[in-house]
Amino acid sequence: LSFCKHLPKIELHAHLNGSISKETAIQLIDRKGDPSLAQRWASTLEGWANAASKLDDFFPLFKCIYEITNNEEAITYATIQTIGEFSDDGVTYLELRSTPRPNLGTGMTKASYANAILKGIQSASKSHPSTTVRLILSLDRRESTESCLDTVDLAIQLKNKTGLVVGIDLCGPPTDGTAVVFAPAIKRAKESGLKVTLHAAEIQNIDTDTQNLLLTSPDRIGHGTFLNTHAKTHLLTSSTPIEICLTSNVLCKTVETYAQHHLQGLLFQDHPVILCTDDKGVFGSSLSEEYAIAAATFQLRKEDLYELSRRAVEFVFGSEECKRTLRNEWERFRQNNG
Ligand code: IMP
Repeated sequence: LSFCKHLPKIELHAHLNGSISKETAIQLIDRKGDPSLAQRWASTLEGWANAASKLDDFFPLFKCIYEITNNEEAITYATIQTIGEFSDDGVTYLELRSTPRPNLGTGMTKASYANAILKGIQSASKSHPSTTVRLILSLDRRESTESCLDTVDLAIQLKNKTGLVVGIDLCGPPTDGTAVVFAPAIKRAKESGLKVTLHAAEIQNIDTDTQNLLLTSPDRIGHGTFLNTHAKTHLLTSSTPIEICLTSNVLCKTVETYAQHHLQGLLFQDHPVILCTDDKGVFGSSLSEEYAIAAATFQLRKEDLYELSRRAVEFVFGSEECKRTLRNEWERFRQNNG
C-alpha cells in the first residue's frame, strides 16, 4: 500500500456527493446544527452497509447525503475537503463529477450549484497546488431531455468562462431512462467541444440501451461490467478507455469478488483502463487502496502499477498542455524511483 500511496495517480471517476468522507460529512452536519440529521445519516449508511449492499439500494442513500449538501456553502466546503483528501492520497490530477441539483428550499440553482463547486476547486488550487482538478457535470438518468440540455448548456458556458469544466457524464440508476432521452444532450456536448463519459453496462439486461449509448461515441465509459460481445468489440476496436471501480462493483454486488472482476480480461487484452474510486465516502475506500487491491488480486508488479497510472494521463479530459505537465511528472517519478 505504501508504494501505491507514493505513486502519482489520476482519478477520473469520482462523484462529489459519493466522495464526501465520514469526517467531512460530520463537519458539515455540525455546521448545520441538526442532531436528527446526524442520526439519519449514520443509520442510512449503516443500513446500507449491513443489509442491502446492492445497486438498487445504493441510490436512495443519496437522499440523506443531499440533505447535508443542500446549499452552496456546503457544496464549496465538501469540494475543498474532498480535493484535500484525494491530494493527501497522492492524486495528482482529479476529475470530479457532480450532478447540478437545484433545491427549492434553499434557493440553490443548477448554476449556483456548479459555481459553488468551481469556487471550491479554485480555493483548493491554493491549499493543494500539487493536485490539478477539473469538473465534469453529470446528467442523471432520472432527468428529462430538457433538463439534460440545460445542464449541457451550463457546462458549455462554464467551460468557456473558466476552462475548468471539461466534460459531461451520464449517471444515476441504470434501470431509469433510455439512451434516446439523453442523446440530444450528449450530441450538443460533443459539438461544443466537451468530452463525454457515460456509465454503461453497469448491470445486466439493457443491451440495446448500451448499444445506443455507444453509438454516441463517448470518450470514455464507466464500469462496462456487462458488455455483450457486440459492445465489447465496439469498445475494443475504438480503444475507448474504461473507468474501473473495483470496490464499488464488489460492494454493489454487480461483481461477486475482486478475482472475478472484468478488469482481469481488460488487462489481458491490454485495453485502456483507469482505476477509480467512484464514491470513496460511501465505500470507505481510497485510490491507493484500489491500486493495492488490483495489485494483490491480479499479481501486478510495481512497474505494472506505474504503467497503469501513467497511461491514465492519456485519457484525461484536460488540455494537451495539462497532459504534457502530467507526463513530465510521471517521468520525474520514474527517474527518482528507478
Ligand atoms: P453527485 O452527482 O455529486 O450528487 O454524486 C452522487 C450521484 O452520482 C448519485 O445520486 C448518482 O446519481 C450518481 N452515482 C454515484 N455512483 C454511481 C454509480 O455507481 N452508478 C451510477 N451513478 C452513480
